[in-house]
Amino acid sequence: MIEIHEDEYLDPTDGLIHCRKCGGPRQAVIPDPFKGGSFKPRCVCPCQQEKERRRKEAEERRQRMERIKRRKAQGLQDRYLYGYTFAHDNGENPVMAKAHAYVDHWPQAFKRNIGLLLFGDVGTGKSFLAGCIANALLERDVPVLMTNFPSILARLGGMFGEDRTAFLDSLGDYDLLIIDDLGVERNTEYALEQMFSIIDSRYRSGKPLIVTTNLKLDELKHPRDLAHARIYDRILERCAPILFAGKNFREGNAASTKAAARRIVSPDNQKN
Ligand SMILES: [Zn+2]
Repeated sequence: MIEIHEDEYLDPTDGLIHCRKCGGPRQAVIPDPFKGGSFKPRCVCPCQQEKERRRKEAEERRQRMERIKRRKAQGLQDRYLYGYTFAHDNGENPVMAKAHAYVDHWPQAFKRNIGLLLFGDVGTGKSFLAGCIANALLERDVPVLMTNFPSILARLGGMFGEDRTAFLDSLGDYDLLIIDDLGVERNTEYALEQMFSIIDSRYRSGKPLIVTTNLKLDELKHPRDLAHARIYDRILERCAPILFAGKNFREGNAASTKAAARRIVSPDNQKN
């Protein structure tokens, strides 16, 4: 005998247990091919199915959010990068349209291994643009790492053998690798060798790379020696160059910070 719960009733018209909430059956009818007649095993009614679907959806959403949070913590190692988002863009730099376009066309960029080379003077917003791409893609659940050579070299410094190989391999796990501020690292033979192995393994992984640099395009195209040439050649081959010209946005920011500071400490405000 099947037990009938409080939220159920036995429908005399089909002899099956039904849900009081949605009226759907909570028993299926399966014919018995041997003895004739039928089995009436328990099943879930439509409202129970809907509830389960919503529970799974919420669980998947929760897991996705967790994953995104974890990826952000991993991929944005410097805290200030959290603020490099499209939401924080003041709309003054027209080059930002290219960042939106890159994010919008990410599946194609990834598939065709198209990276970016952001070059131009200090303070023109190259790192901000790269950071916006990083954050936007991380929000879409794409594994991104934004880092720079001094950090990578510092980490490699304490590693040997398998740890080293594992760390270098781990850079290949990211769908997008962003190397910020190429050219600020010390140009020792050791540093150049490490940089080459990182750029080269990225090149061979077939996954996109974004590089920001204060170096001039001419310096990248005509480097001073072979050690630099083989690094820059690979970057130039895979990364579309984008020039950041004109306005120094960092100076603009500094000016607006100063203006804001003046407002805050002005005698008028002291009264409030
Ligand atoms: Zn129901």
